[in-house]
This record gives sequence, structure tokens and C-alpha cells, in this order.
Amino acid sequence: MIDLTPESSPRQIAILGATGSIGASTLDVVARHPDRYSVFALTANADVERLAHLCQLHSPRYAVMADERAANRLRDLLKHESCPTEVLGGVHALCEVARAPEVHMVMAAIVGAVGLKPTLAAVQAGKKVLLANKEVLVMSGRLFMEAVASANACLLPIDSEHNAIFQALPANYRRDSAAAGIRRILLTASGGPFRNTPRAALETVTPEEACTHPVWSMGRKISVDSATMMNKGLEVIEAHWLFGVPASQIEVVVHPQSIIHSMVDYVDGSVIAQLGNPDMRVPIAHAMAWPGRISSGVSALDFFGIATLGFERPDVERFPCLTLAYQALETGGSAPVALNAANEEAVQAFLGRRLGFCRIGDVIAATLERAGQYETDSIESVLEADARAREIARAEIGKRGKA
Ligand code: NAD
Ligand code: MG
Repeated sequence: MIDLTPESSPRQIAILGATGSIGASTLDVVARHPDRYSVFALTANADVERLAHLCQLHSPRYAVMADERAANRLRDLLKHESCPTEVLGGVHALCEVARAPEVHMVMAAIVGAVGLKPTLAAVQAGKKVLLANKEVLVMSGRLFMEAVASANACLLPIDSEHNAIFQALPANYRRDSAAAGIRRILLTASGGPFRNTPRAALETVTPEEACTHPVWSMGRKISVDSATMMNKGLEVIEAHWLFGVPASQIEVVVHPQSIIHSMVDYVDGSVIAQLGNPDMRVPIAHAMAWPGRISSGVSALDFFGIATLGFERPDVERFPCLTLAYQALETGGSAPVALNAANEEAVQAFLGRRLGFCRIGDVIAATLERAGQYETDSIESVLEADARAREIARAEIGKRGKA
């Protein structure tokens, strides 16, 4: 991609999911470099007060609320505060700001399948796309990567593991693991809040316990995914599509300190890792400035303070979601779509105290079984498979409840 923006003008960035955890970390990095970046658009679902506050701080040209009624409230609020930001509403407006000609880069940090259309809009417009919204790649991997290639978009991973792998791969890597001499991708996992919790005790864990991560501070959905280890399962699928590596060559390594963010094991016996303090501003700053480097606000790694790094095998008996994700990737077609949809529904039900923690995996397994597998060769068919799987998952949740 040839970059024609003169050094003197700041890059315009659109942040999808600005009110979330990744949104906050992105805005923190942006604010450290006002000479390099300026905010073109901030988007959120329905948190009017938070987005209004961010508009006052960062003066974007546009603020978009996916929820139209929330957009009306935000418009009134900003008018009252004499803030010149223009307010838009609805999913089509999310897509519009993602593909606006003024935008140089798009941070895709909406949580879940709802991010598919706006993220794809950014890709199809050939933007530099910083991808945090992993569910999009899980649902539409092949179609998404084809869209990246045909629009000549620049896709950079924000998930810390995938950003680490990207940094450990050769600079000219072309999604051919054999040609690059890759033996394995070693995807590190913190193990989540229940790494040492016995199986029986998992039955009664609460949403509050599941959302208290030992290392990372994140949104509620990804926090539950970390607790079930479905997050790592989604990341295996994400790594497959981003780097063109077969599932059999992607191995999960539990590393509780979360200092090594992932590794590439080469055929000559070399293992290249990326290390750093566990703070999402590291991968965000890396992707924003790539191929350069900028400060992220994260302190230098203190090796003497860390002292030891530990490694364990994942326990697939207690965390069956990891196996389900590998199976869905092997099955292909609509299976990863159903996996993601059932997981989103089950996590929502768990957070709403309508489903027990250990039933999340059961609901996903039953949905995969009932939904069957078929080809998803268009975005419409992906969205249909998503809707179908959600219906099945909701029925399965209804059957199980808190049992
Ligand atoms: P979050 O819950 O903190 O924020 C989610 C954002 O998405 C919010 O701005 C919210 O308004 C927006 N959103 C939610 N529903 C929406 C809808 N229907 N329409 C439009 N916008 C909507 O989540 P997060 O932790 O920031 O995670 C965002 C994404 O990044 C997820 O896909 C997650 O898996 C991924 N990710 C997060 C982290 C992390 O450290 N938080 C790390 C790696 C990857
Ligand atoms: Mg991750």
C-alpha cells in the first residue's frame, strides 16, 4: 500500500466501539500523539453519556450511535454542550464512517457479530484496519481475507497474541507457513480466572467472578470467554485465517504471567516470541504506527520483577470450549459461525444469570450438532447461519437454564 499522506498532516482514525475497553486504550495512544493522529469518528452502541464525554475530549467530526434513539439523545446533549461533533445513527452510519474517504485507519473494536458489516465496509474501502473484533474473522474468515486481498486493505491484528505472532513472522510473510519454515504457532493463554478452580466449583461461579480477570481488564463478553477459554478457541480460528496456518499447527500454551504474548516455532528449532507488559496499548500502538514504532505509555518490562515464567497444558476436560472451537474450524463452512453465535447467546444468558457457567459449553455443543454444516459463500449466508444458530442456541438455553 502506498502512503501518500504528507508527514505534516495527522492521520484520521475512526474508532468503532470507542466506549469499550479497546476503544479507551486506543484513545489513550491517540492522545499521546496529537501531531500524528486525529479522531475522525467515534462510535458506540447506546452509552450516550460516555460517548458525549469522549466527544468533548477528542472533538471527532462524527459520533455514531448504533441505536437510533440513543443517537437522538446524544445529538441533544452535544447541542446543549455546544460541541460541534455531528451525530449519526444506525448500522448504516457505522459503515459510512468506516469507509469515509477522509479516514486513513479504522480501529474495529465492536464486540461480537454486530461488528461484521462495519468492519467489512472498512476493508472493502481499502483502509488500514486494526482488528480487535475477532468474532468477525471467526464468522467470515475466508470471505473476509478475500475482501482484504481484493481491496488491497492493510489488515493488522490487535489481539495481543496475533499481534505478537505478526511481529515474530518474517516481514515479507505471505500466509504460506510451509514456505516460511513454520513448525507451529504457539498461542499463549493466561488460563483465565478459573485456571486452578476444580470442576465441581465451576458449577456455581458467578458473572462477577468470571469477569475478574487475573491479568487483563476487558469488556464483559471477552472476560467470560477468557474464563471458559472460548476466547482461546476463537483465537485459534483467528490465527488460522490471519496467518494461513492449519489448525494442527496451532498449539495453545497456558502461560499465567501473560508476559510472552505468543510465539512462532520454526523448523530449524528457533522459537521467536514477543514479550511485554500485559497492556493492550502495546499492540494498539504497534499497529497504529506500523511499520514504525511510537510510544504507547506502557512501562518497560522489569525482568527481575517477573523472575519466573510458567507454562502448562490447557485442561480440556474443565474447558471443553477450546476443543469445540478446534472441531468447528476443522468442520469449516457454517460451523465456526454457529460456534460464535451460540457462544454469544450463551455468554449473554450467563451474564444475565439465566444460564450456569458450565452449561455454556453444553449449549454450544448442542447448537453445533443441531445446526449442521453447510457452505457459507456470501456474507448474506454467513448472517443467515448466524441467525439460525442463535435461534437454536436460545432454545437450548431455555431447556437448560441454571441447571
Ligand atoms: P467492550 O464491551 O468493552 O466494548 C465493546 C464496544 O462495542 C463498545 O464501545 C460498545 O458500545 C460497542 N458495541 C456493543 N454492541 C454494539 C452494537 N450492537 N452496535 C454497535 N456497537 C456496539 O469490549 P472490548 O473488551 O473493548 O472488546 C472489543 C473487541 O475487542 C471484542 O471483539 C474483543 O474480543 C476484542 N478484544 C478485546 C481485548 C481487550 O483487552 N479488551 C483484547 C483482545 C481482543
Ligand atoms: Mg487475545
